[in-house]
Amino acid sequence: MNFLSWIAIIIVIVSIFLGFTKRVSMTNSLIMGNLVIYFLTIISLENFGFFAISPVQLELGFKPVYLMTGENFYTLITQMFVHSSIAHIFFNMLFLFLIGGHLELRIGKSRFFAIYLLAGVIGVLMESLVQWGSNVLIIGASGAISGAMGALLLLYPKEEIPMFLGPIFLPRVPVWLSVGTWFAIQVAMVFVDSGPIAYTAHIGGFLAGALLASAMSPGIKVADQRKREAFRFETSALESLATTEELKNALAIIREEKFEDVRKAWLEYFAKHARCPKCGSPLSCNRYQLRCTSCDFATVVK
Ligand SMILES: [Zn+2]
Repeated sequence: MNFLSWIAIIIVIVSIFLGFTKRVSMTNSLIMGNLVIYFLTIISLENFGFFAISPVQLELGFKPVYLMTGENFYTLITQMFVHSSIAHIFFNMLFLFLIGGHLELRIGKSRFFAIYLLAGVIGVLMESLVQWGSNVLIIGASGAISGAMGALLLLYPKEEIPMFLGPIFLPRVPVWLSVGTWFAIQVAMVFVDSGPIAYTAHIGGFLAGALLASAMSPGIKVADQRKREAFRFETSALESLATTEELKNALAIIREEKFEDVRKAWLEYFAKHARCPKCGSPLSCNRYQLRCTSCDFATVVK
C-alpha cells in the first residue's frame, strides 16, 4: 500500500477519535479529516490528466467486486473519507457542515456518529447490490451525509435549516421541504441518470439514517425532556430578576430558544442588564450561574 494511503487511514482514525473529545464537534472533526485526506489524494497523483486516479483513491475506495472476493473490507469505512474532485468534496463538506452540524447539536455526537458511519456503510452496500460484482470505484461521504439527512427528516421535520437552491442561499427552510426535495431528486435520478454519481448509495444511506433515527428516537426524546426540565428549573429563578420590560423580553427569548449557544448569549445579556435583588449591584454570569458582584446572592444552578 502507498505510504500516503497509510497516512490517510491514520487520519481517519484520528479524526474519529478527536470528534469524540469535548473540544471539537464530530462534524468539524470529520470535515477536517476529509479535507486532509483530499490533500493527500492530490499530492499522491502521479500525473494530472483528467482520468488520473491517485493511489489513495484506489486503495481506500470500495469496489462491489470485494463482496465476492472477500478482500479489502476496511474500504467499507475508508471509502467515505475519500473524494474524487474539488466539486465532489466541496459539496459533500458543505452539506455535512449544514446538516450534520445541526443533527449533532440535537442528538449528541455518539448518536450522530453511529448514524453517519452505518449509513455510509449501508449506502455503499446498496450501491454494490445494484452494481453487483463490478470493478467500479465507489468513494465519497455522500451516503453517510444522506443518513444524517434521513435522521434529521425523521426526528425534526419542522425545524428550519439553511439551504442552497442552486446558487441562491436560503437561510431558513423547513427540514421536510429541503430534505424532502433533495430525496425526491435522488429517487428520480436513479431512473434518469447513468453517470458517475451513486444515487442508490444516497437512497440507501438516507433510509438507513431514518431507520436508525427511529430506533434511537425514544432515547433522544427522554434526553431532550431532561434538558428542557433542567432549563425550566433555572429560568424560574430568573423571574424575580426580570423587573423591566427589556429583561422580561430577554427571559421570554431564553425560554423559547432551542440552541444552547444562543440561549447562553441571551443569558449573558440578561445578567448584564439585571441588578442584584438584595443590594442592587451588577450581576456576573458564569456558565449558567448568575452571581452578585458584591454580596452573596446567586441564582440556582444546575
Ligand atoms: Zn447583591
